[in-house]
Amino acid sequence: MDVTLLGTGSPVPDPNRAGPATLVRAGGTLLLVDAGRGVLMRLAAAGAFPGMLGAVLLTHLHSDHLTDLNDVVTTRWVMSPVPNPLVVYGPPGTRQVVDGMLAMLAPDISYRLAHHDDLNDPPQVEVVEVAPGDVLTIGEARVVVGRTDHRPVEPTVGYRVEHEGRSVVLGGDGIPCAGLDELCAGADAYVQTVLREDLVKLVPMERFQDILDYHSSVEQAATTATRAGVRTLVLTHYVPALPAGMEDEWRAMAAAHFAGEVVLGDDLTSLTLG
Ligand SMILES: [Zn+2]
Ligand SMILES: [Zn+2]
Repeated sequence: MDVTLLGTGSPVPDPNRAGPATLVRAGGTLLLVDAGRGVLMRLAAAGAFPGMLGAVLLTHLHSDHLTDLNDVVTTRWVMSPVPNPLVVYGPPGTRQVVDGMLAMLAPDISYRLAHHDDLNDPPQVEVVEVAPGDVLTIGEARVVVGRTDHRPVEPTVGYRVEHEGRSVVLGGDGIPCAGLDELCAGADAYVQTVLREDLVKLVPMERFQDILDYHSSVEQAATTATRAGVRTLVLTHYVPALPAGMEDEWRAMAAAHFAGEVVLGDDLTSLTLG
């Protein structure tokens, strides 16, 4: 099983970091977890097109995690020679978001249906709203849905993807909680969105300070990894953006609380579990 950080950025625009999105390759099944800014560019760089995805899994409905979902849907639709329904898993509210997105795309859909004689159906998107405790089979992957704590944003979920005895947890945004510990227990890898509490505290803007209470700091992600006994901690969604050359400083902050391997880096950083 492979895990690729397609986008390691955050809502703050960054020329070098796409928005939150992670690709999991479980045998022949490709799962896209979140679909932030620039996801198709990074997906192409990872050798995949939207038509190849087994499903999209959304951790929550914050815009930075789904702003380019419409691009996934449209490009899969126009590039597939035959109808190729896309299944989008996400917490309650996902159907409302997808319905709104399809409404936004209605003029484009009508243009393409009118113009292409061999295109007779609009994009087909099946939404499955999930809840903690759900266990899904998606292609070759078994996926367990867990509870996360990103309050006041709710509901939010994390996903544990399992394949051939390997497992990776995509924690999404949030602070440590019992649900996340349970989801991560004994996993090979745990991907967590993080912020640097020490650096965020230096920014004299109330709106920036607000984010401290609902995101894991690097240290909190590390302590979750230790409590859950995971083998590898993968950090992403860096707030503030991780400048080139500072990787070791961030890694050391995690290593102070976690004895396993710590992975972080640029977009398209990838690891193989096996
Ligand atoms: Zn969020
Ligand atoms: Zn986020």
